[in-house]
This record gives sequence, C-alpha cells and structure tokens, in this order.
Amino acid sequence: MKVAIIGSGVSGLSAASRLLERNNCSTIDVYEAASKSGGRISSFNWQLKNNEEFPCDTGQHFSIGAYKNFIELLERCDALKYWTRHSFEWNLLKLRENEIQKLLHFKISEIKFFKKVLLPYIKFIKVPTKFFFLKFYFSIFLLRTKLFNANALCELYDKFYFSDVSLDLFWNAFAENSMNTEYENADLNTLSFLVNECMKDIPGCIDILLPKSDYYSCAISPIEKNLRSNGVNFFFNSLIENIQPSRRLKYRGMLSQSYDKIVLAVPGYTASKIWMRSGFSTTKESLQWENQKYRHILNLWVIAHPIANESKDNKHKSTCFSWNPIEFNGSFYVVVIQKSRERPNLLSIIKSACNNDNLVNEEKNLMDFASLFLQARYAIRLEDCEYKLIRAKRATIACTADQGKNSALWSGIETGISGIFKCSDEASLNFPSTIEGAVKSGYLAAESI
Ligand SMILES: Cc1cc2nc3c(=O)[nH]c(=O)nc-3n(C[C@H](O)[C@H](O)[C@H](O)COP(=O)(O)OP(=O)(O)OC[C@H]3O[C@@H](n4cnc5c(N)ncnc54)[C@H](O)[C@@H]3O)c2cc1C
Repeated sequence: MKVAIIGSGVSGLSAASRLLERNNCSTIDVYEAASKSGGRISSFNWQLKNNEEFPCDTGQHFSIGAYKNFIELLERCDALKYWTRHSFEWNLLKLRENEIQKLLHFKISEIKFFKKVLLPYIKFIKVPTKFFFLKFYFSIFLLRTKLFNANALCELYDKFYFSDVSLDLFWNAFAENSMNTEYENADLNTLSFLVNECMKDIPGCIDILLPKSDYYSCAISPIEKNLRSNGVNFFFNSLIENIQPSRRLKYRGMLSQSYDKIVLAVPGYTASKIWMRSGFSTTKESLQWENQKYRHILNLWVIAHPIANESKDNKHKSTCFSWNPIEFNGSFYVVVIQKSRERPNLLSIIKSACNNDNLVNEEKNLMDFASLFLQARYAIRLEDCEYKLIRAKRATIACTADQGKNSALWSGIETGISGIFKCSDEASLNFPSTIEGAVKSGYLAAESI
C-alpha cells in the first residue's frame, strides 16, 4: 500500500511512525510545505549580542507527564535522553493562610472541614503533599461539574464554587494557557478531561518535560531521523496545491505518483483550503474545519542573568522551572522561569487566547507588564536584557463552550471521502489542541488505514 502524508508537524510524523509499526505499507511519503519538519513546533537560532547562538523555540511549549503518547514516541526514537523532567512548581505555597482559605471557598460546611482537617496540615506542606492537595481540589471541581452539568467554565463561578482568589491565582490563567481560550468562553468538558488526565498519576502526570535545548533538536529531528532510517521519504518545500481524482498530489507544478491512501496532517483551516482547491464537494467534516475558531498566542522571551538567584530553594538545583500566573490590567500572563546549567537563564511571558481585535493592545500591555515585572522582581530593565516577542497567529483552536456544546470542537480523522484521512491537534477527541492531541490523532489516522 502506498501512503502520502501531507504535513510533517507532530501529527504527520506520528502517523508515519505508526504506519511503519504496522508494517503494511510499501511506500510512505511525507510532503511538507516548509523547508523542515515540525510545523508549529519550530525553533530558531537566536543570535545574541555577544555573538553566541541560542537555540530557542518560537513559542514556549509545555509537555507534561500526562502526554503518554508523545513520551512513548520520544522513547521509541531514542530521544528521551535529550529531555529533563521537573516537578510542577506553582506559587500556591507562597500564599498566606487567609488566601488559602479564600481559595478553598466552596461551601461553609466544607470550609469548616478544610479548617479542621486540612489547614493545619497545609502549613507543613512538602512536595508530595502539595500534589495531594491539588488532586483534592480538582476532584471536588470535577464532582461539581457533573452535578451541575454546566457547559462553560465561568458557569461554575456563578454557582459560587470558584472564589475570586482561585480565579486570579489559577483558573483564569490555566484555562487560557491550556486551552488557548479566554476564561469567559472556555469549554468546561475539555477542561475536565484535561484535569482528569492530569490526576491519573499524580504527581508524575503534571511533571513538566523540558528539552535540553529546543524542541526541534530534541524531538522533531530525532523522530524524523528514525523515520528516514526506516524508509520514510520526505519532500520538503513541497506545498500541496490539491489532490487529483487519481489520488495524485499536485505540488510545485508537478504531479506525484498515485497513492492508495492520503492523510491530511494539517490544521482544519489548511485542510479546508486543500479541499476546495481539489474540487471536492463539501462534507460535514470539511464544513467543520471551516468553522473552527482559532486564537493567537504572544510569547516574550527574555534572557535575564540575575534570575539565577530567583529562589533560595532553587539555588542549588542544576535546573528548575516555575509557572506563575499573574494578572495585569485585566490580562492574565503566565511567567515561566527556567534555569539551566546548559543554557542562559530564560524567562518567558505568555499571553494566550488573543483575537485579532485585541492583538495590538495585548502586545502593548504585555510589554508594559514585562518592564514592570522585571523591574519589581529583579531590579533590571527590559531594555537592558536580550528579548524577543513572538506572535503565533492561529496558534491552536479555541476550546469554546459554544463549539463544545454543538460537538463542533474535534473534527475526528474521517473526511467524508474514503481513503482520505485527516489528523492534527484538533482532530483527536477531548484533549485540548496540544502536542499530545496531535500525536494521538496521527496514531488514530494510521490505525484507520
Ligand atoms: C505558540 C504556541 C504555543 C504552544 N504551546 C503548546 C504547549 O505548551 N503544549 C502543547 O501541548 N501544545 C502547544 N501548542 C500546540 C502544538 O504546537 C500543536 O498542537 C502541534 O504542534 C500541532 O501539530 P500538528 O501536526 O497537528 O500541526 P502543525 O504543526 O501545524 O503541522 C502541519 C504541517 O503541515 C504543513 N503544511 C501546511 N499546509 C501544507 C500543504 N498545503 N502542503 C504541505 N504541507 C503543508 C505545515 O508547514 C506544517 O509543517 C502550541 C502552539 C503554538 C503555536
């Protein structure tokens, strides 16, 4: 069987990998519009003022312990050795006791219970117990979700199960960051699914996996190398214009050989363009690709040497990572601080869930926030640091409650035409648009062939 895969992002590479495992293809050809693999996971060499080259990702990507398929893929391609694993550091433990009480504001009776049973214990909280605490909080949250059958995350707030503090300290930023959707529009079921995945094997599931340099060198390149060595062919700079009725692909004015099966490993909006140019009639799937809503992500990278002294606890660790949600002028930022022996200390300030209409203002607000944050926290000026703002347009689909309600979020791997499949991060059920979703969808598409 001859198979063509259009797109060499994580989903296309995963599809090729699973096809190889199944060993029923004589040809696996991957066509990629760009000059290298990776798609939205792309990296660049940041030329620093001292002429050093700093390999860096175009956006801050988080992979977590719950990404079982992605981790297994790295392992199979002998790439896990390029990764480090960190326990999730969140600023909850820096809260004062009255803030913790507000955070646990569910119901009077429950507060009493917390006061009596948990709060004395929380004072002496150590690393493993904070995960127990998180798990407990998430379980209650999930239970409430089931009882009230809400669609949107913000409906829970109306029912008094989120306190203002918990919103400011966690849920707002968590929803925006994990689902690329503003809190007011976030789909509760997607969030519940994610939280559930993160609870399965606490604390391992919320471990953060970081590449020792960048995602391209530590994941994409080894996966591609593994595929090539097993006979997969790559055609770069080969934008597919359309699929011909004979199942040939048109690219660079040429026609490919004819394939038995074709996998569109591209996001929905790209798939719908190829669909139109191929003259295929509209299917319910292609309609869905057209209607999916996307959001942009802003990411400001800052190289700041003084952050080496960020925390006394972390002073002696060779690497560390912390996730800090902070509200500024009505926008939620996640500040990620990474310290590593191998690289300069790196700080990223992320603003997820941006729309076209608010992008310019968000960008300005982010820069103001970054200046103030660096000044207040480290007494350094942004202008004195090396920094780079990256705008990722249409970074992922937004997991909005209205799309969730209409079962319009996940497109699935069918296309409505037999022999043509679709994968990408918005194709596999329930997982927000993520690396893990992309890998799962690639596997599913390959298994259907
Ligand atoms: C800034 C940013 C931050 C993110 N943060 C996280 C995170 O923290 N954690 C997480 O899990 N996920 C994160 N994501 C999402 C994650 O990057 C994506 O879910 C994943 O990379 C999607 O992979 P994919 O293969 O589905 O699609 P893509 O990576 O988009 O791959 C599609 C490929 O198809 C190619 N292509 C398109 N059209 C054609 C054509 N006509 N012919 C040939 N080739 C074509 C493209 O060039 C591309 O290489 C982030 C994304 C961005 C942009």
